[in-house]
Amino acid sequence: MAGQATVEQVMDVERTAVVRLEEGLHARPAARVVQFAKGFSSDIEIVKGERSANAKSTVKLMLLAVKEGDEIVIRARGDDAEAAVEGLAAIVAGEADALTRAAAQATPQEQVPAAPREAAAPGELVGVAASEGVAIGRAFVYLPREPQPERGRIAAQEVEAETLRFRRAVEAVCAMLECKAGNGDAAAATAADIMAALKDVAQDPEFLTAVEVRIGAQEDPVAAVLAVGADLAERFTHIDDAYFRARAEDVRGVARQVANVLLGRDEIDLAALAEPAILVAGHLSAFDLARLPLRLLRGLVTTEGGPTSHIAILARSFGFPAVVGVKAEEAALRSAKTVAIDGGRGVAVVNPDTAVAAAYAARLEKAEAERRALAAFTHVAPKTRDGRAIEVAANLGSEAEIDGALGFGAMGVGLFRTEFLFMHGKTLPSEDEQFRIYARVVKAFHPHAVIFRTLDIGGDKALPGIAPEREENPFLGWRGIRMCLDRPHLLKPQLRAILRAAAVGTARVMFPMVTDIAEVTAARALIDACRQELMDEGREAGPLEVGIMVETPAAALCAATLAREVDFFSIGTNDLTQYTMAADRTNARLAHLNRADHPAVLAMIEMTCRAAREAGIKVGVCGEAAGEPDMIPRLLGWGVSELSMSPSLIPRAKKIVSET
Ligand code: PEP
Ligand code: MG
Repeated sequence: MAGQATVEQVMDVERTAVVRLEEGLHARPAARVVQFAKGFSSDIEIVKGERSANAKSTVKLMLLAVKEGDEIVIRARGDDAEAAVEGLAAIVAGEADALTRAAAQATPQEQVPAAPREAAAPGELVGVAASEGVAIGRAFVYLPREPQPERGRIAAQEVEAETLRFRRAVEAVCAMLECKAGNGDAAAATAADIMAALKDVAQDPEFLTAVEVRIGAQEDPVAAVLAVGADLAERFTHIDDAYFRARAEDVRGVARQVANVLLGRDEIDLAALAEPAILVAGHLSAFDLARLPLRLLRGLVTTEGGPTSHIAILARSFGFPAVVGVKAEEAALRSAKTVAIDGGRGVAVVNPDTAVAAAYAARLEKAEAERRALAAFTHVAPKTRDGRAIEVAANLGSEAEIDGALGFGAMGVGLFRTEFLFMHGKTLPSEDEQFRIYARVVKAFHPHAVIFRTLDIGGDKALPGIAPEREENPFLGWRGIRMCLDRPHLLKPQLRAILRAAAVGTARVMFPMVTDIAEVTAARALIDACRQELMDEGREAGPLEVGIMVETPAAALCAATLAREVDFFSIGTNDLTQYTMAADRTNARLAHLNRADHPAVLAMIEMTCRAAREAGIKVGVCGEAAGEPDMIPRLLGWGVSELSMSPSLIPRAKKIVSET
């Protein structure tokens, strides 16, 4: 297969490979091959039959018209020929992480050292370590399949029976959506709210009539219901109201459910997760997250997402192990009955045999013992060895997390991600609803402070109807404070609610995604306007410290100027890392670059801390780095006085602070 010969210093390497890329070497895969090939000094050729092309030219490569299943020869001549040929063979063979691995081999001196990790044992699926801990238990597989019509048209004499079958399917879906909430907790109320919204859609005459008209015209009912669902959803997306636009996803969901009933298939429903389980999933949308009964999760394995994607953050907040971006065949995941997971190593085993299960059970016991040892630190107010008191606070996204955070010893909330409140329910939360929630949180953590971050939609926190649905680069788009300043009807009720909550406890406010001083000035002016309005209305507004998140390189570089305008900084290392490293935080393949301990990111953090120190304002860290054992001593050394993190990490952080 591989012919190899050495000619003095220069290597000639050649090997054959079968192209396993769907659609062959078309535009995008060809561009990837070229991008990869350009990283080598060797001359590289791809040969198909009689013709060959320079692997460093996209156009030439595309003109070669290499299709899936074609056999090609990859030929290279030069010092690094072997690495080039092996890397390209892996890419055309469709190995998902070939590019990353091969790049690591090509330029070892420029790579960030990978986090030490034991090699995966046979049968272990490897992903990104997203939340520490070991678990073994029943799997709940959430990999919904898109329903497909089984036939095109129906006979005229079938119309009546098929119409009846469609009506029965709608009734069945409505019965499934019947409000099952009975225990009155917030999660159940949210689920009930969503169910009611879906039922409204299923019973809508616009929907029913349109499907029946199509069946009357002899269209297969499954095809008819999916087409009407898609049409209606499209119309929703054009309505000039955020919450109506968000209903597009409901309509598609209902159409899918009805189609599944017609096909005699059960739609997998996250709300059906009724007992503790380990969730095995692909992509989890904001809609999925809102329905997910997080308290029942004992672990999480997903094929998508990175360590700072929101599901990973929720996993750490609720304290269950998670491995994201797992590379596995869908069929293997679908077959999962039991799953063993080691979140610290980023590995999972589907249907472990007795020996593996026993090994995981033993590790679980050891992890429990470590957790018990840390429990002694839960309720201490830690001081460094030189006597500095450090606040170790929690990052929260909902009221449901308050008790858990207090249980882990949270000294206040260093980041309350308010966007999760906007992802639940049928309507935007009103000022009064927000006030009730914010007031409950500040009271729960009294006398510690709660820092509310204003709505940070966009990037990986897409919210249909509120966030722009299609942007070329959502992480570089209209998000965070940029969007909120353009939409005072969203920001003002929120600021008013926070000001009112500040009258019943210690509340602070901070703005996300700041890049320019003008954003801070405008946001502060809005706070002043809201305070004035509340006073004019005879309502109470409390004292409110104002801060910003430093999570863009622009903010870090201008920290000295920004420090003059605010009371505190909170460093958001998740975004600061992705923007500094130009590496999407949700892309599992870039996990090796998404590291807050990279020298470039450390420089950003250090300069922010220095600016805060010189201006005499507080600086905290609320990105995931705040809970990382290796980062804590560095951050404290630079003058950070508050570390805010996923609640389950608090006891360990307090121990490290006490020993620093
Ligand atoms: C961050 O970017 O570090 C941060 C804490 O905000 P989020 O993870 O919500 O973007
Ligand atoms: Mg952020």
